[in-house]
Amino acid sequence: MQNLFCLRCNRELGSGSKSVAVYLFAQTVGVRPRQKSSAQRICFCPQCSVSLAMGPPPEGALNIAAWKMIRDMVSADPALNEAAWEDLRGVEGLLPEAEEQNLPRAAGFIEF
Ligand SMILES: [Zn+2]
Repeated sequence: MQNLFCLRCNRELGSGSKSVAVYLFAQTVGVRPRQKSSAQRICFCPQCSVSLAMGPPPEGALNIAAWKMIRDMVSADPALNEAAWEDLRGVEGLLPEAEEQNLPRAAGFIEF
């Protein structure tokens, strides 16, 4: 099986990775002989799927159609959000641990 990459962030999506696949194919209507294109498979990693769904609508009719489909799936069940959250935690774990003493104090809106 070929390796797939997230269309948005170009992250490699291995066979065991969670992702959202968008299948795209074209077909003639009312034209004989009927023609059908091969199907294209476009993949998004969970983080990009959630990010796209939460973001504003993109430009272009085709992009909006795909955005609506991803939004439907992200909003239907928290499983994809959880997968994105797990990915995010994995990335966080790879970062070097900041020493607590060196952390800058969070600036508040009200200072005494
Ligand atoms: Zn991605």
